[in-house]
Amino acid sequence: SPGLYIVATPIGNLGDLSPRAADILARADAVAVEDTRVTAGLLRHIGVKRPMLPYHDHNAEGMRPQLIARMATEAIALVSDAGTPLISDPGYKLVRDARAAGHSVVTIPGPCAAIAALTLAALPTDRFFFLGFLPPKQHARAEAIAEVAAVRATLILYESGPRLSACLSALAEGLGDREAAVAREITKKFEEAVTGRLSTLAQRYAEAPPKGEIVVVVAPPEPAAPPSEADADTALAEALTRLP
Ligand code: SAM
Repeated sequence: SPGLYIVATPIGNLGDLSPRAADILARADAVAVEDTRVTAGLLRHIGVKRPMLPYHDHNAEGMRPQLIARMATEAIALVSDAGTPLISDPGYKLVRDARAAGHSVVTIPGPCAAIAALTLAALPTDRFFFLGFLPPKQHARAEAIAEVAAVRATLILYESGPRLSACLSALAEGLGDREAAVAREITKKFEEAVTGRLSTLAQRYAEAPPKGEIVVVVAPPEPAAPPSEADADTALAEALTRLP
């Protein structure tokens, strides 16, 4: 039926495309895609041919009204090059406008690099904070890190290989030398997750910038130590001296 279908696609291993995702892609009237070559490969893999409409950062403003208009009568699927649309990828404004126009919006959930990395990192998962890509420039990056230094949650961010070591150093500087994990090439042949202190990881990757796609996961700040009995005694004695 007509409307918008948000379809998650694999982040490396084509086996991760869900049967429901494949079914929706096969039946969509058109697929809004970031890069036609990338999605053509996926559609070929499942043996379907659908019209593709480019929808990316550079043409989104112009394309959005057309896509919204078509949703009145057509099933429009939205995919990104990899993973879950809208997560460090285009789509949120399309969902906003589709809803505002009264169209049905359906999600077909699936792979997401941030969540996959969190499951590999051996760090607390009860509260996490997704930062997407930090700004590449040193000063803006330091500011972005300072903003989240007090957040009591595991931090998740995307980074590129060449910038990884500098990013880890900046995190160590701004957050303290916390435990962290670097998850690389998740679901692909050279998948690995390396854990250690931020400074140790920064050193390791300074020597050899890693290839491939990367997610960094950083432990929450250490909880403040509960006041000891000795502290309480001192505080009590001090308070008593101030009594009239
Ligand atoms: N929407 C995607 C998702 O749901 O994960 C993320 C898109 S974002 C433009 C691309 C970034 O995600 C990469 O630069 C990398 O940091 C991360 N990423 C994507 N696939 C990955 C993989 N297989 N292993 C590790 N990181 C990955």
